[in-house]
Amino acid sequence: MVKAIVGANWGDEGKGKITDMLAENSDIIIRFQGGANAGHTIINNYGKFALHTLPSGVFYDHTTSIIGNGVALNIPVLIKELKQVVSQGVPTPKLLVSERAQIVMPYHILFDQYEEERLAGKSFGSTKSGIAPFYSDKYAKIGFQVSELFMEEEELREKIERVLIQKNTLLEHLYHKPLIDADEIYNTLMDYKEMISPYVCDVSLYLDQALKDGRNVLLEGQLGTLKDPDHGIYPMVTSSSTLAAYGAIGAGIAPYEIQKVITVVKAYSSAVGAGAFVSEIFGDEAQELRIRGGDKGEFGATTGRPRRMGWFDCVASRYGCRLQGATDVAFTVVDVLGYLDEIPVCVGYEIDGQVTKDFPVTSKLEKAKPVLKVLPGWKSDIRGIRNYEDLPANCRAYIEFIEKELGYPITLVSNGPGRDEIIYRGFEK
Ligand code: GDP
Repeated sequence: MVKAIVGANWGDEGKGKITDMLAENSDIIIRFQGGANAGHTIINNYGKFALHTLPSGVFYDHTTSIIGNGVALNIPVLIKELKQVVSQGVPTPKLLVSERAQIVMPYHILFDQYEEERLAGKSFGSTKSGIAPFYSDKYAKIGFQVSELFMEEEELREKIERVLIQKNTLLEHLYHKPLIDADEIYNTLMDYKEMISPYVCDVSLYLDQALKDGRNVLLEGQLGTLKDPDHGIYPMVTSSSTLAAYGAIGAGIAPYEIQKVITVVKAYSSAVGAGAFVSEIFGDEAQELRIRGGDKGEFGATTGRPRRMGWFDCVASRYGCRLQGATDVAFTVVDVLGYLDEIPVCVGYEIDGQVTKDFPVTSKLEKAKPVLKVLPGWKSDIRGIRNYEDLPANCRAYIEFIEKELGYPITLVSNGPGRDEIIYRGFEK
């Protein structure tokens, strides 16, 4: 059986924690999209980890971790992360990398930086990990698959030279930056080949057999619905699909194998990068939530930059769950709200004088004003509670109000960053 763990919002919903937790009863955990531009923070018995590339299931010795073909693979970052977790006492993970995954090239990172510089004030707020240039090249069919590292030298050199004609033209005339040398790229790719060789695998074939053998598989998404290039807040989105449906493509399995879509929804909102954010709050109100948020404040796992903060957004989250095809909602970080007397929740968008509950396209979203409903707080620390009935009545009322607004069942409630800080509410293990 395949379960996808994906985000309904702007990312940072706590997918890493849920994946780490569910990996206990899983055999294989796969990253199927995105790259080292976002991070998952995980706290477990080995310590605290910020993973950017490795799947969040690497902490068990019974699991196999897979980098699927849909991922933007930064080979040195992956190898560094692997060494890092092992140095922190984690058993050496069993890692497989799809031979069809494409490689983040050193120039992708440079182009990301140069483009942000060129756009200056109008930039997308990229993490400068090379993700947008990487996916542009993939779909322009000038990317490099892992399998191409194993081509004949002459063939590979010929391709590098062909691609560099384009890159160097842009470097010279658009960015006015130093040109790239073909020999240097070839040598870098040979280093990458050595690093990645032990892990390369025909992943879709491996998964086909694993599913025939009845293995439990988790697909781990990065970011959330609102950052999807098709269904998100385009153009302030990421460059690969963040939807569970893409899990089938980015891992190489049949779509009908994905039987559960565990959609992670955070009890308040946070976002990174530019773009419309209707329920955003500012000033002291935002700073207090930012500092109390997550396990140690809402600051980016990759960049350390402060996240933008907001109240829970029912409109965006309902849409986020719908596009993911949520079978279960994991409602996270509820404990953080325990300091508030009252908790505003965004229940509608007012656009040109009309109130809507349906998430609109970006041009309309930019005009939307939040319609807020204020719910009573519970003013207590709920960490440590394991039974839903033991939560304060106002906390249950908050969860149940949001469940009704979402229209999808909240079957997991997360009340702390730790692996065991979870309340089961009808979730089938
Ligand atoms: P991801 O990218 O979706 O995995 O999310 P991040 O790792 O960027 O952000 C989630 C943050 O919230 C991490 O620091 C987690 O340790 C933390 N976290 C996850 N679930 C909970 C929770 O229920 N309560 C609290 N307080 N923190 C949580």
